[in-house]
Amino acid sequence: MSDDCLFCSIVDGDIPGRIVAERDGALAFLDANPLAPGHTLVVPRTHAERLDDLSADDSRAVFDLVHDLVPDVEAAVDADGLNVGVNDGEAAGQEVPHVHVHLVPRFEGDGGAP
Ligand code: 5GP
Ligand code: ZN
Repeated sequence: MSDDCLFCSIVDGDIPGRIVAERDGALAFLDANPLAPGHTLVVPRTHAERLDDLSADDSRAVFDLVHDLVPDVEAAVDADGLNVGVNDGEAAGQEVPHVHVHLVPRFEGDGGAP
């Protein structure tokens, strides 16, 4: 837990999150301001600001969960594909300084990448 970290607060249950999946090292929940229906975030349970700060175990937990969720998220909203990505660092658009992988459902003809 890092003081004042939004996603640590969701991991710890101190603020509500719409949980999609739980694993020992990682948690998935719905994005509060979704770019598309079903927009999901996957985070390590242990606070890490950047990808380079993740332990090997936490990296495995996060990306294994991403891998497993891709078909589930796509099917849940009947999407045609997904954008999967990380904004790693403020310069890359990272607003919440706790590693998170975006799974953004995409639909044929929806107008291009967000
Ligand atoms: P970033 O720009 O850091 O890659 O993405 C941060 C994401 O966190 C955004 O997509 C934003 O909508 C989402 N977000 C911000 N505040 C909250 C919150 O309180 N709860 C949830 N579930 N998502 C949030
Ligand atoms: Zn955190």
